[in-house]
Amino acid sequence: MLDHLGRDIHYLRMSLTERCNLKCIYCRDESAFCKAKEELNTEQYRILIRQFVSLGIRKVRLTGGEPLVRKDLTEIVRMIAAYDEIRDLSMTTNAQGLAARLPELKQAGLKRINISLDSLDAERYSRMTRGGNLQQVFDAVETAIREELPVKINTVLIRGENDKEADDFIRLAREYPLDIRFIELMPIGKLGESGERRVMNREILERHPELYPAEPRYLSQPSEDYTADGFRGRVGLISPISHRFCKDCNRVRLTSDGKLKMCLGRTQETELMPYLTGDGQQLLKVMRSAIYAKPAEHQFDELFHSNRTMNQIGG
Ligand code: SAM
Repeated sequence: MLDHLGRDIHYLRMSLTERCNLKCIYCRDESAFCKAKEELNTEQYRILIRQFVSLGIRKVRLTGGEPLVRKDLTEIVRMIAAYDEIRDLSMTTNAQGLAARLPELKQAGLKRINISLDSLDAERYSRMTRGGNLQQVFDAVETAIREELPVKINTVLIRGENDKEADDFIRLAREYPLDIRFIELMPIGKLGESGERRVMNREILERHPELYPAEPRYLSQPSEDYTADGFRGRVGLISPISHRFCKDCNRVRLTSDGKLKMCLGRTQETELMPYLTGDGQQLLKVMRSAIYAKPAEHQFDELFHSNRTMNQIGG
C-alpha cells in the first residue's frame, strides 16, 4: 500500500525471535538474556501474514534474533511461501548449523539467504560473535551455492576490529558468485552509539578505484552496487548513515513480540498483540493507519537513542 508520502510499502522484515545463539559485540550485550515467553506463536504469525499480504506486502525477509532457533521455522517458511502474492522470501542468518537445514528450507519455499559474516579469520570471528564457528558459515555458503540459492554476505566493519579485512571480503566477490555488502554500523546497541568505531562506506570506494557502479538488481534496493572487471559477484554498500535512502524506503518491520515498527531509526512502535483475536477488521485498521503514517526519515543523529538492540528489532 502507499504511505502518506506515496511510497509503495511492500517489503516486510519479519522477526521470528529476539533469541540468538551468538552475541555479536555490536549487537547484544554480553550479559543479555532473551526470553521466549512473549514471542508470537505460529498461529499468530499466520494471522499477521494474511493481513500483511492483503495490505500489499510482496516481499518478506525473516530475521531475528536468529531465525534458525525457532522450532517452527520451516512451517513458517512454508506458510508464507504458500501465498502467490509473495514474490520473494528470504532469511537473514548467522548460518550456524544452517548447512544441514538448507535443502529443507529451500523445499519449503525459501528463495534467498543473507548471511552475516564479519570476519574471515576463525579467531576474530569467534571473538566478534562471542562463540561463533567460522567453518559452519563456510559450509552453509558452499551448500547454498550447490543448492543454487542466491547468497549475500553482510558485513559490518568496526574500526580497530575487522576493518583491515575489507579487502579480503572484496576478493571473495571477485572469486565467487557472491554479493558482499558492507553495512555501516548504526547507532543501535552500545558500540554503535557514539559513531567512533564506524567505518564510512565511502572509505571503501576511495581505497578501491577499480570498483564501478553496477545496475541495481531491483528498484529501491538499499545497497549501491559495484563491480569490477573479472568479478563473479558484487560489492554492495548499505550506507544508512552517510547516504540516506529514506525517500525510497519500502519497508516495515514486525518484531517478534508483536509490534509494528515503521522505521529502524525511530523508537515509535504500534502494538498488534491486542488485535490478534476477533475477525481481523480492527487489526487491519491499526496496521493500515500505522503504515500510512510511516515517518519521512530516520533520526540517526547524535541524539538518537534506540529503545531496543538490533536482535530485539530484527535487523
Ligand atoms: N541472527 C541473524 C544474523 O546474524 O544475520 C539475524 C539478526 S542480526 C540482528 C541482523 C543483522 O543486523 C546482522 O547482519 C548484524 O550484523 C546487523 N546489525 C546488528 N547490529 C547492528 C548495528 N548496530 N549496525 C548495523 N548492523 C547491525
